[in-house]
Amino acid sequence: MLYFSTRATATAGHPAPAGRRFCDILLEGLAPDGGLYLPQSYPQIDGATLTRWRGLDYADLAFEIVSLYVDDIPAHDLRALCRKTYTAAVFGTPQITPLTRLEDGLYLLGLSNGPTLAFKDMAMQLLGNLFEYHLARQGEELNIFGATSGDTGSAAEYAMRGKKGVRVFMTSPKGRMSPFQQAQMFSLMDDNIINIAVKGVFDDCQDLVKGVSGDLDFKRRYRIGTVNSINWARLMAQVVYYFAGYLQTTTDNSQRVSFCVPSGNFGNVCAGHVARMMGLPIDKLVVATNENDVLDEFFRTGVYRVRGTADTHETSSPSMDISKASNFERFVFDLLGRDGTRTQALFGDAIASAGRFDLSGDPAFALAATRYGFSSGKSTHAQRLATIRDCAARYGVVIDTHTADGLKVAQEQRASGVPMVVLETALPIKFAATIVEALGREPDRPARFEGIEALPKRVLHMDADLTAMKALIARTCDA
Ligand SMILES: *Cc1c(COP(=O)(O)O)cnc(C)c1O
Repeated sequence: MLYFSTRATATAGHPAPAGRRFCDILLEGLAPDGGLYLPQSYPQIDGATLTRWRGLDYADLAFEIVSLYVDDIPAHDLRALCRKTYTAAVFGTPQITPLTRLEDGLYLLGLSNGPTLAFKDMAMQLLGNLFEYHLARQGEELNIFGATSGDTGSAAEYAMRGKKGVRVFMTSPKGRMSPFQQAQMFSLMDDNIINIAVKGVFDDCQDLVKGVSGDLDFKRRYRIGTVNSINWARLMAQVVYYFAGYLQTTTDNSQRVSFCVPSGNFGNVCAGHVARMMGLPIDKLVVATNENDVLDEFFRTGVYRVRGTADTHETSSPSMDISKASNFERFVFDLLGRDGTRTQALFGDAIASAGRFDLSGDPAFALAATRYGFSSGKSTHAQRLATIRDCAARYGVVIDTHTADGLKVAQEQRASGVPMVVLETALPIKFAATIVEALGREPDRPARFEGIEALPKRVLHMDADLTAMKALIARTCDA
């Protein structure tokens, strides 16, 4: 399997660039031309294969799917990595992603029983094991330097803690994360995890990441990398739970299922798109947003409009508070018939110059719904609270704020005869203040998180100062 950038095109006199293999892009973010990597084609799963997969546990299902995309790790090793990753000890249940029936035709797929109680663990845990394996094989080391306002940073730290050859420097805006999120990250005592609370806001942290990555000599010398949501391996790992969710919801392959996905950067639902392209019988992929409705606006109108800081709302489903959807380019590339020149014109040129593009007049736009099965909806704070209350009262199930956005939109878009599966992307304890606002009581806390706010914390405090940050990295790595 070879990988190409969404902006790569063969034009007269310029042959298409050579494809790259999985391990070549494993540690990378953007392709050099600014595009995102995608496989040259989507492997097709026939009915007989899907039937055979019904008997597999999650780890072996993951191996079957991942091995279609990875041909430069021996099968024996890849299977061992999947089995080491997807265990009941790490993910809380033998099913790994358990399905909960709310009522006939309406389900929750539990993706948030991993170490940090959010769905990002599903991919990040595999990434941690793939990184360690690959770095050891190459005799290399990697320093991950990132910025987080919550879920991504903690998922990365819990995936990389104790891993050989990897160190994580994670910046976060001082005092801006919930006490639970701070406790999750700052209580890690592993030597290879370095938490840095920066005086400032999330954008200040991101500017530090850009500053460090922009100094190419420094980046090379200290082997700096990132683990952002555009990494192909993360997307690939997420494809697995769409299959697992489908197989748990159905008894035979003639049945179709719809998924409703709480969305921010379009990473989660993009994996659903890949699963559907592989032939998984998915009817609709419903994109649910909060007040930051960049994606809902596109699927309703054909206009994709990046928001400025002033137009990006701080909401009670904060992991979906995005100004642009960084994985969206992958879907648009497919929508346009995999035309790299047009993808470059939209994302490289129009977005860079005008912050928007408009496909409403393009025949391709209608295909988003008709051929690719997409629809969308949005939810507000008041609707989020009402959905949390209604779900608790009607089904006795307490859901988190992001999952509530998904359930709200799913209820509007259910079709009779087609099961609707809402992806549960976090546990309510991570966003306890809003649950208290909705229900008047604290959400349940898994036993292993009892009292974590009181644990000793290991965190450095710094100003948003690029020179000081580089000095810290250099000092740590040279020690
Ligand atoms: C990251 C995150 C999302 C959004 O996922 P995307 O892949 O960015 O669309 C939704 N809910 C929770 C809890 C998250 O952490």
